[in-house]
Amino acid sequence: MTKKIRAFTIGSIILIIICACCALTVVNGKSIDVVESANMEANTSDSITVNWKKVKNAEGYRIYIKNEETNEYELFKELEGEDTISYDFEELGGGTVYDIEVTAFKHFNKKLYESENAQSLTVYTLPARVEQKAASPKEGILSVKWDEIANAKGYEVEYSKDNEFKDKSTEEITDSKTTAFKLEDLTPKDVYYSRVRAYIEIDGNKVYGEWSDTAETAIKEKFVMGADIDPKKPIVALSFDDGPGYPSGGNASTTAQILDVLEEYGARATFFMCGSRVDNSNVECLKREIELGCELGNHTYDHQHYGKKVTPNDISKCSDRIKEKSGQAPTIFRCPGGMITNAIKDQCKKEGMPLAYWSVDTEDWKSKNPDKIYDIVNKQVYDGAIILMHDIYPTTVEAVKKIVPKLIEDGYQIVGVTEMLAVKNGGEKPTPGEQYIDYKTINNNT
Ligand code: ZN
Repeated sequence: MTKKIRAFTIGSIILIIICACCALTVVNGKSIDVVESANMEANTSDSITVNWKKVKNAEGYRIYIKNEETNEYELFKELEGEDTISYDFEELGGGTVYDIEVTAFKHFNKKLYESENAQSLTVYTLPARVEQKAASPKEGILSVKWDEIANAKGYEVEYSKDNEFKDKSTEEITDSKTTAFKLEDLTPKDVYYSRVRAYIEIDGNKVYGEWSDTAETAIKEKFVMGADIDPKKPIVALSFDDGPGYPSGGNASTTAQILDVLEEYGARATFFMCGSRVDNSNVECLKREIELGCELGNHTYDHQHYGKKVTPNDISKCSDRIKEKSGQAPTIFRCPGGMITNAIKDQCKKEGMPLAYWSVDTEDWKSKNPDKIYDIVNKQVYDGAIILMHDIYPTTVEAVKKIVPKLIEDGYQIVGVTEMLAVKNGGEKPTPGEQYIDYKTINNNT
């Protein structure tokens, strides 16, 4: 009996040990450690590198990304190998934020086992780099503009008189749609350096993208005709007839839109206006033209008369209206249709105005095709040309957006008619009552 019991006991002990071993093996087979220390190791504006601690006996790892709509973590990537403990997310957009989880996995008895209780990790790309355009469009102004950065929460602008920004001022812009910054009343000729970067917010903290290039801008002085023009380099005069345009459908007037382009590129033009069109809705354009160094021109009061029918009153009434509204009388005349008479010349002489014809006719009123208008200017432009357009067509605005940067790229300085004639003629202003076709051609019989 005793022997039996003993035999049973030994058997039981052996059995228990075997069972315990089995149980232990089963537990080991199914369980896999949690992935620890998942971490965003590096990030740029288009990539994120994540790493984590190796998990013993893992066959690999799985990365889950939270679907922001469903709040569920969805499998994004399965990585093979115990030692694969890093992953690069690439070709992402700037300022992209993800919540991720990393798990380890292995198989046991053909079944997949995965570590549980993964810690959520927030990872993100930096906002894209800003490209700024800094300029001093008029006296005492520094204007900094840039394109909106995707996913940005806001921007930081730094400006300084020192190119290393040791003594700097900072402006925080907390609205991603505001992509411009302006300083006024600066001392002319002072040089300012500026740079801009975008930021996103992660858990209430600002995360900045890379700084833009540093721009160097000399602050403009009060406009003096020809002061910033190099007479040895090509010059072209832009001229716009029949305006000013009116604001419409919530949009700024076509004239204001053309001024935006001129301002952006530091270019100027002459605006030959009809006095009857100048009213409270567009008089700001005239004031802006004066500030930007553009020239106010006379194109008769209401464009009703051509050639012989133009009366001195058509001309003087226009001048009076422009002066009354803008504070400055027009300094040059262009006749509707370009046909002139002695009566017209005499009235212009009386008012101290030369006459301007043109040498490059864009026919913008006829084609209303920005590409055609651009092509004509591109093919026909020359040093000392007067280009004719009309600032009342949206298609002309589109053309101007291409023409101005292209002329500048080709080395032209863009100014108004009187300024071009003066610079090309040793500083001598054009003669009142004479009609200029281009920088050297006078023709009083058109
Ligand atoms: Zn006209």
